[in-house]
Amino acid sequence: MENIIPAEAAIEKCDACFTDVVADDVYCTNCGYPLKGSDFEQRSFIANRDVIDIDMNDFNNKIKSARNSLYYLAGVFMFVGVINFFIKKDDPDILAYVLVYVILAALFLALGGYSQKKPLACIVSGLCLYTIVQVLAIIDNPANLVSGIIVKIVIIGYMIKGIKSALELERFKKENNIT
Ligand SMILES: [Zn+2]
Repeated sequence: MENIIPAEAAIEKCDACFTDVVADDVYCTNCGYPLKGSDFEQRSFIANRDVIDIDMNDFNNKIKSARNSLYYLAGVFMFVGVINFFIKKDDPDILAYVLVYVILAALFLALGGYSQKKPLACIVSGLCLYTIVQVLAIIDNPANLVSGIIVKIVIIGYMIKGIKSALELERFKKENNIT
């Protein structure tokens, strides 16, 4: 008679992730929680998972700051483009000026958006693009080296921290088998 237990009765919730698990399972199929493990094993699993969450949050916050820098640059270039449009209204090369800024704004916007999926590649590309733009600006007018230097250092700092965190996050995910 014992083996006529209805299927629903054999389902319970995992203590760690609260998904339905089959009561006979040794490990949760969703998160790997040791359902049949000792109290110590179960508590170590939760503690380890919490540490992983804290580390991932830290990496993700730094990546987010780098992403915000990319969006900020998109805004700045758009703003400069619009300002140029009004200042140089009578210049025959006006479209060329404005177009460069609009393209830069679009590139940074795209990199920011796509960094949700590929943070490392996008932040590295963003930093390279920003560096190239700055070098060209300095070649064009050496005074650009010092103008707004603090903002530039902050932006570059956020992006470098973002790159470091994106690298660490990838390694961390590999080590902990997180996909
Ligand atoms: Zn679970």
